[in-house]
Amino acid sequence: MKLISMKCPECSANLDVDMSKVNSFIFCQYCNAKIYIDNTNTELEQTKAKYEYMNKTEKLKNRYHMDKESMDTLVTLLVGLGICAVIAIGALIFALVFA
Ligand SMILES: [Zn+2]
Repeated sequence: MKLISMKCPECSANLDVDMSKVNSFIFCQYCNAKIYIDNTNTELEQTKAKYEYMNKTEKLKNRYHMDKESMDTLVTLLVGLGICAVIAIGALIFALVFA
């Protein structure tokens, strides 16, 4: 006997349904709703694929976010370095001219 997990569409309780009940009705053990088990396997696969797709998109979003953050850090660093260089060159010119 193989069990498949599904959610009751009425009360969202987690139900373990016997595979042999596919294409027939069951009653939710929590709210007594009559649920038609319609090729749940396919549905489960679709849900899984959708979840994986969402996961991928989320990861891509996170990566973009991280890239943006490190870019910001890099820009700040470069601006800081630029200011330091300007000051150093200024001091050098000052020293050369007035020494
Ligand atoms: Zn229910």
